[in-house]
Amino acid sequence: MTAGVLLLGWLCCLPRTLFRDVSYSTVVEDRDGNLLGARIAADGQWRFPPRDTVPEKFATALIQFEDRWFRWHPGVNPVAIVRALAGNLKAGHVTSGGSTLTMQVIRMSRGKERTLWQKAVEAVQATRLEARCSKDKILSLYAAHAPFGGNVVGLEAAAWRYFGRPADDLSWGEAATLAVLPNAPSSLHPGKGREQLLAKRNRLLDKLQQRGYLDSLDHALACGEPLPDAPKALPSHAAQWVETQPKGQRSRTSISLPLQEQVEAVASRWSRELSLTGIGDLCAVVLDNRTGSVLAYVGNADPERDRPGRQVDIARSPRSTGSILKPFLYCALLQEGQILPNTLLPDIPVNIGGFSPQNFDLQFYGAVPAANALARSLNVPAVHMLRRYGVPKFQHLLQQAGLTTLTRSPADYGLSLILGGGEGTLWDITHAYCGLARSYLYDTDGPLQDKAALWHTFEALSEVNRPDEIDWHLVRSVRKVAWKTGTSYGFRDAWAVGVTPDYTVGVWVGNAGGAGVPGLTGARTAGPVLFELFGLLSIRKVASDYADGAWFAEPLPTDGIRAEVCAVSGHLKGLNCAEADTLLLSKAALESDPCPYHQPDGSFLLPPAMEWYFRQHHPEYHPPVRGEQAVMEFIYPEPGSTLWLPRQLDGQVKGAVFQLAHRDPSATVFWHMDGQYLGQTRYLHQMSLQPGTGDHALTVVDTEGRTLSVRFRIAEESR
Ligand SMILES: [Zn+2]
Repeated sequence: MTAGVLLLGWLCCLPRTLFRDVSYSTVVEDRDGNLLGARIAADGQWRFPPRDTVPEKFATALIQFEDRWFRWHPGVNPVAIVRALAGNLKAGHVTSGGSTLTMQVIRMSRGKERTLWQKAVEAVQATRLEARCSKDKILSLYAAHAPFGGNVVGLEAAAWRYFGRPADDLSWGEAATLAVLPNAPSSLHPGKGREQLLAKRNRLLDKLQQRGYLDSLDHALACGEPLPDAPKALPSHAAQWVETQPKGQRSRTSISLPLQEQVEAVASRWSRELSLTGIGDLCAVVLDNRTGSVLAYVGNADPERDRPGRQVDIARSPRSTGSILKPFLYCALLQEGQILPNTLLPDIPVNIGGFSPQNFDLQFYGAVPAANALARSLNVPAVHMLRRYGVPKFQHLLQQAGLTTLTRSPADYGLSLILGGGEGTLWDITHAYCGLARSYLYDTDGPLQDKAALWHTFEALSEVNRPDEIDWHLVRSVRKVAWKTGTSYGFRDAWAVGVTPDYTVGVWVGNAGGAGVPGLTGARTAGPVLFELFGLLSIRKVASDYADGAWFAEPLPTDGIRAEVCAVSGHLKGLNCAEADTLLLSKAALESDPCPYHQPDGSFLLPPAMEWYFRQHHPEYHPPVRGEQAVMEFIYPEPGSTLWLPRQLDGQVKGAVFQLAHRDPSATVFWHMDGQYLGQTRYLHQMSLQPGTGDHALTVVDTEGRTLSVRFRIAEESR
C-alpha cells in the first residue's frame, strides 16, 4: 500500500513538460539546416529552441567534465554524492554539489534556490526524468538551457555568439570552453576570471587526452586556442524573410543559403550602383518552379548601407504594376480563343471615357501582331485586349493567380489596370509568373491552364529585347528566358520578372518612398539585375531538373489543335489568304474569326484608321483603292460613344480634336456637324470642336461624294 502511494507520487512528481514557460529565440534555417538568422527571445535571452541531438565533441567534453558516469547512472550518482559530502565536510563549506547532469536539467527547469531540500527533490525528479527520457534527450535539454554568460543561453546560441559558427563545427578547444562555461557563466567577461576559465578548460582538455578522446597533437592544438573575445553578431541573411517566420520557433525554410549569399551580394552591388542615380531600393525573389517555394529572398538590398526605410520589406509592399501584368492578359485571351498568337491588334488612338492611353514612345503603329505588341510592351494594343476581355474578369483572374492586393472595385481600376493602375507586390507577382510555369510543367491549379496558350506566352516573352546594360559574356549560359519588364507612371517602379523551366526570378527597383527618377525603367534598371541572377542560377543549379539553357518543351498535339493561320494577319486562314502557317492553338481558337483583311483579289487591306498609322511605319504597304471598300473611318470619336470634354486649369471646357482617316492620301474632306458646315481638311483630317452637351451627328464628305457619319454624345458633367 505504502509502496503504491510512493510509486504514484514518484510517477507524478515531475511536470509533463519541463521548461514549459521558457521563451525561445526565433531561429530560421535554410533548406539544409544552415542558420539564416535569429531573433532574440521574448525575455531578452539568446536561447535557441532545443534540438534532438548534441554535437559529439561538446557532449563528450561536457560529460567528462560534469558527470563522467552520466551514461550509466539512473539520474543520481550515489558515489558522487558521498564524495561531495566528504569533500564538503573536509573543507568545511560547499565546494562540490555532486549533481548529475540530469539533476542540473531539473534545477534549470525549476529555477529554485539551492538548498539541501531542493536538492533532494531534484534528485527524486531526476530519477523520474531518467525513466521518461533517453540519455540523449536529457543531454539535449541541458545543452539547450544551460547559461553561457550574459543573455546567452544554450549551446547553439553560445557557439554563434562566442565562436561565430554552428555548434556542430566547434573545435575541441571551443567545445571544452563551452563545457566548462555553465559552471561559471560570468567568467568570460573581461576581468572576471578569464585565466581561471582558461586553466579550467585546459584541465578538461588534459582529462580528455588522458581518457583517450584526444591524441597529443589535437590536445596541443586545442590548448593553444585563445578564449573568445566580445560576443559576435549572429548571421543575418534574408532578414525580411526571417521576419515572416513563426516567432519563438525553429523554422526550416526552402531557402538555399549559398544561393542566398550570392543573390544578396549581387543585389547589394546593384543597389549601391543604382543609388548613385538616386534609386535607393531594390528587392529580389528567386523561386523554384518544381515546388513554387522560395530559394532566395532579398526584401531590401544592402542592409549595411545607412539609409531610411531599409528595414521595410519592399518585396511585400504593394507597388504600381506598370506593364508587368500584360502576359496574363495575353495568355487569357489566347486561352479563350479571343486572339491567336499573332493576331493583328489595332494600335490607333482611343479615348474611352477620357482615358486615352499612349505607347511608351508616343507613337501609334496602326496594327501590330499580338505577340509582338506584348514583347514590345505596347500600351494601346494592351488596352484594346483588356477592353475585349473585360476589367472585372481580368481582375478576378489576377486574384486567382495570387495577387492579393487588387482589392478595389473593377470600375475604380478601369482599363488602366493593364498599364499599372493596380498595385501588386513583387512576392505575389513573381509567384503568379511561377504559377504559369508550374501549370505548364506540372499541371498545378491556376486560372491559366491551356498548354498552347501558355507556350505561346513563353515564346512571346522570350522575344523581349535584353538590356544593353549587361555584359552578356558573363551570363552567356543563359540562353533563353521568358521575361517581362514594367515601368510605372512617373518612373517610380521598375520591374523585371523572368521564367525558365527551372526558376522564376523577380526584381523590383525604385524608391520605397515613391520618388520617381528619370531613367528608372524596368528594362534598364531591373533587367540587368534579373539576368545576372539567372546567370548565378545557371552556375549554381540549386533545384534544377533541366539542362543548362533548356527551354519549355513544345506542347503535345493533344494539348491543343493544329490549324492554319494567315501569315500576315495572324487570324485563322480565310478563303483569300495566300500564305499560311500551321500553329498549335488552344481548342477555343477554332471559334475565332478568319482573316478579315485579305480581299478576294488576294490583296491585304486594313481598315482606314489602322491603315493611316500602319502606312507610316510600313512604306511597302500599298493597297489598291477600290470603290466598294470603306475609304474613310473615324479615329475619334468612336461611333455611339459618350465623350467628356476636358477642362482647362481655369475651369473652361476645352475642345476635342476629332480625327478621320482617309485611304487616299491626297483626298479633301468636308466636315459637317448637326447639319452645319464646319470646314475642309486635306492630308491630315483633324478638326478641333467644342460641341455642347447632348447628342450630335458628325458627317464628312469627300470630293468623290462618299459620305461617313458618326453619332456621339457629350456628357453633361464634363471633366
Ligand atoms: Zn489573311
